[in-house]
Amino acid sequence: MNKKHTTLLSFDQEHLWHPYTSMSKPLPSYLVEHAQGVTLTLAGGEYVVDGMSSWWSVVHGYNNPALNLAMKAQIDTFSHVMFGGLTHKPAINLAEKLIALTPKKLTKVFLADSGSVAVEVAIKMAIQYQHSRNKAHKNRLLTIKNGYHGDTFAAMSVGDPVNGMHQLFQGFITENYFAEAPQCGFYDDFDEQDLASVKHQLEQHHDRIAALILEPIVQGAGGMRFYHPQFLKGCRALCDQYDVLLIADEIATGFGRSGKLFACEHANIEPDILCLGKALTGGYLTLAATLCSDHVAQVISNGEAGVFMHGPTFMGNPLACSAANASLTLLIENDWHAQVMNIEQQLKAQLLPLVDLGNVEDVRVLGAIGVIEAVNPVIMDKIQKRFVELGVWIRPFGKLVYVMPPYVISKEELTKLTDAMRAVMQDDSLFQCPKAPTK
Ligand SMILES: *Cc1c(COP(=O)(O)O)cnc(C)c1O
Repeated sequence: MNKKHTTLLSFDQEHLWHPYTSMSKPLPSYLVEHAQGVTLTLAGGEYVVDGMSSWWSVVHGYNNPALNLAMKAQIDTFSHVMFGGLTHKPAINLAEKLIALTPKKLTKVFLADSGSVAVEVAIKMAIQYQHSRNKAHKNRLLTIKNGYHGDTFAAMSVGDPVNGMHQLFQGFITENYFAEAPQCGFYDDFDEQDLASVKHQLEQHHDRIAALILEPIVQGAGGMRFYHPQFLKGCRALCDQYDVLLIADEIATGFGRSGKLFACEHANIEPDILCLGKALTGGYLTLAATLCSDHVAQVISNGEAGVFMHGPTFMGNPLACSAANASLTLLIENDWHAQVMNIEQQLKAQLLPLVDLGNVEDVRVLGAIGVIEAVNPVIMDKIQKRFVELGVWIRPFGKLVYVMPPYVISKEELTKLTDAMRAVMQDDSLFQCPKAPTK
C-alpha cells in the first residue's frame, strides 16, 4: 500500500461511520480498488474471492457487462424523474416481472429505496389495512425471535429483542409480540410443538395483531438459522384462522438464494405482503419492493385515508429499476437454479465434514448459503486479516463464519472459500477463549 492509500484509510477511520462500528475504536477497513466477477482487488495488491456477495446482493458478480450496459443506456435516457404523477418504462417493466415471478396472489407493487424501508412500507400496509376494516385496535405485530428486518425503527421493533438491543431504545420502539423461534431445522423431522408459541400468541392477542412478519425458512442476520417448511405452512394457516396478515420478508432469501426463487415456495405458501431487496438490482443500486395482494390493496384504498400513505422522493428510481430489470433477465438466462444447486452440492461436500473440528459447533448448508457456527465468537480484526491473507473476503459475525457467494462463482473459486473456512476453524488463535479440540 502506498502513502496515498494510507492517507485515505486514515481519513476513513477518522470521519466515516461504517456499519455497526465505533468511531473511537474503529476496526480496520480494506480499500477496494477494483471489482470484477467474484474478485475484489484491494489497495494492498491482494486479490480476494468474494464470499459475501456484498451482503446477499451481488449475485451476478461485479462489473457485470449486461448490468453495466443496462444502466449506461438508462443514464443516457434519463436518470431520475419524480414518481408522483409521472411514470416510466423501467418501473413498469420491473413491476411486470416481479408480478410474474412472485406468488400469484401478489399483484400490487410498491417500489421503496432500501430493505428497511420496504419493511416499513409492509408494516404500514398491514396497519392501514386493519384500520380500513374498522379494526384499528389491530395495530401491533407478531414476529418470531432471532429475526432481523432492518435498522429503521419499525423494522427494529420486530427484530430479535435481545440481539436487536431493544433495551437501548426503550420507550421509542413500539412494543410488539414475540413468539419463540422454531427449533426444528430445515432437514429435521417436524414437531408440531414448534408452532405452539405462535399459536399461543395469536390466541391471546389476535385482536391486537395486524400481521405476523417473518423471514421465510432462513433467519439471516439474526443467527443464520434454517427452519422447517412445515413451520411456515403452520404460520400461514394460523394467520388465516386468526384474521392476521402474513408478511414475508424475503429481502435476503429472494431471487434464488435458498434454492427456490422465493423461500416461501419451500412451504408452498403465499404471503399477503412480500418484501424484496438486496439481490433485486444484482447489487448495483439500492432498491427494494413491497408487493401485496389485490385484496390488501383494495381494502387500504377504500379506507379512511383513501390512499396508501407513503411516497419517497426517489421512489421507482429509473436507474435502479433498469439494473433490476437486467438482473432479473440474467437470473433466468444464467439458470439461477442450476447455479445455486451446484453451489449447494459443493458447499455440502466441502463444509459438512468440518463439523468434526474442535472449534465447530454446527455446520449447515441450504441453497447458496454455507454456515459454520463456531463454539466461541471470532476475534473480528484477526480473522478478517487472516481471511484476506488466504485470498478471500469472508466477514463473520459473532460465532458465525458463513458464505453466500455470487451465483457465478466457479468450482475452483468456491473451493478457495471453503479451504479458507477450514483453515480458520483450525486456528484457535482466531477465536475468543479458544477451546482445546476435544471432539
Ligand atoms: C438486509 C435485510 C433487511 C434490511 O435491508 P436494508 O437494505 O439493509 O435496509 C431487512 N430484512 C432482511 C431479512 C434483511 O436481510
